[in-house]
Amino acid sequence: MKTALLVVDLQYDFMPGGALAVKGGDEVVPLINALMGNFDYTIASQDWHPERHVSFATTHGKIAGESIEIDGVKQELWPIHCVQNTHGASLVEELKKDPIDHYFRKGIDRETDSYSAFFDNGKKRETGLDAFLKEHEVTKLYIAGLTTDFCVKYSALDALELGYEVIVIADACRAVFDKKDALKEMQQAGAEIVTVNSLDLGLPHLLT
Ligand SMILES: [Zn+2]
Repeated sequence: MKTALLVVDLQYDFMPGGALAVKGGDEVVPLINALMGNFDYTIASQDWHPERHVSFATTHGKIAGESIEIDGVKQELWPIHCVQNTHGASLVEELKKDPIDHYFRKGIDRETDSYSAFFDNGKKRETGLDAFLKEHEVTKLYIAGLTTDFCVKYSALDALELGYEVIVIADACRAVFDKKDALKEMQQAGAEIVTVNSLDLGLPHLLT
């Protein structure tokens, strides 16, 4: 049994002052830096959109906060964010990169959004994360990052459906809108919700 930490979307556009700023988004970076090294593998996901992406309100002449439906799947509309090869799409400098074994980029097709680090929202395209975890015999997946109510949540729900044991480190996540319902939904689906200090990882680099 191997463990992995999935670090979700610690990119400038999700930090305070960014295009899709998440309150307290920067506060999770030191926590996640401290957590790294306690797992067999560390993986980082990155929102990585082409210009005029389907999730951008302006692509549809609409306002961020509205939603549309695409092939029966609800698509929330966001401000332009995490455009490929821009500063906003870069992982924040303060995040330790050395412990990261692999990066997975999502939302790379113009026509489909992807909240989950495993699949796009229509489940038509895989990012390769599931194959990576299976290949490395990871069965236990810890998740932290941004945001609790979107990319963390959908990654956790997909991981559970794929049969992983899922542990969400709640205080190392921040929500864009609502944390409580998202945590409840993940817990009801079978995820364990923990805090950084409650983690007993049983691995050499325990937090002090
Ligand atoms: Zn996005």
